[in-house]
Amino acid sequence: MIQQDIPLTVTLGVDAGSKHIGLSASSETKELLAWDVECRTDIPELISTRKEARQARRHRKTRYRAPRFKNRARSQQNQVQSKQKGWLAPSVEHKIDTHLNRIAAVQKILPVTKIVVETASFDTQKLKNPDISGIEYQQGEQTGFWNVREYVLCRDNHECQHCHGKKKDPILNVHHTESRKTGGNSPSNLITLCETCHKEYHAKIKAGEIQGPKDFKLPERAESYRDAAFMGIMHNTLLERLKKANTKIEVVNTYGYLTKNKRIELGLAKEHYNDAYCIAGNLNAKPLEQCLYLKKIRRHNRQIHKFNFSKGHVRKSNQAPHLVDGFCLFDKVLY
Ligand SMILES: [Zn+2]
Repeated sequence: MIQQDIPLTVTLGVDAGSKHIGLSASSETKELLAWDVECRTDIPELISTRKEARQARRHRKTRYRAPRFKNRARSQQNQVQSKQKGWLAPSVEHKIDTHLNRIAAVQKILPVTKIVVETASFDTQKLKNPDISGIEYQQGEQTGFWNVREYVLCRDNHECQHCHGKKKDPILNVHHTESRKTGGNSPSNLITLCETCHKEYHAKIKAGEIQGPKDFKLPERAESYRDAAFMGIMHNTLLERLKKANTKIEVVNTYGYLTKNKRIELGLAKEHYNDAYCIAGNLNAKPLEQCLYLKKIRRHNRQIHKFNFSKGHVRKSNQAPHLVDGFCLFDKVLY
């Protein structure tokens, strides 16, 4: 029984991703929902198959059709304008749609009062102005370092810059090229090394075998900041549309470096729904033991889009029979 006089606050955490979406709703005392949603990855291929099919059809000798060349809305504008209009690739549109309709699905079953979305793994604004102030200061200066750390890992493509993955060590460290004291925590002083190489480097320095980064095949200063190169347009659009769709409740964003930090502190496994649990921010809530796995599938499989239909030109029915032995596709079965 929910007591009416105590307002129930339910926070929904969303781990936005291009392949997997983690969703977790929790009150202050317990986690109420944990979902792992897999997005479709087949869209770019389907679109290019369609393009091929259309081009082939136009080149075939077919009945006369008046030329249609002014029916391409996007090509009439240049790219800058189409960006302003908010045109996104169909695969990106799908991903945003999936986020929005799964969030709406949660809102149908739970009275969500706040939505927190992780929009990026690090905060570009903070990289430019690394001054610690306000809340940051209370959280300790390490939080700022976690932000830079995520950035450096991302910049180096999550790959050891010495062996480039040849040593197959999955644990990555962020190494200070110059010592922390003299070089500081700026991204240009940091480089990604796997733990094996990192230990090797320090052992060799200690033994006097090598003098500095040059002897270890490392650049002396890493590449400087590349603006917005990794920032997906997807995340920003998602946040915008989410705010538009939910004007009555609070929609805020957070960064991956903060949640990763929390997840490791709590000793949770690296799963999207666990990230979402940390994003929601109710860290005293009792986590659920299981998550619900959802997978987005193509809803149409039109024969018209297929290249080779059966011999004798007999078209098969457009779709597979809905019911097979009393079951339809993706039924949940208790056995
Ligand atoms: Zn390595």
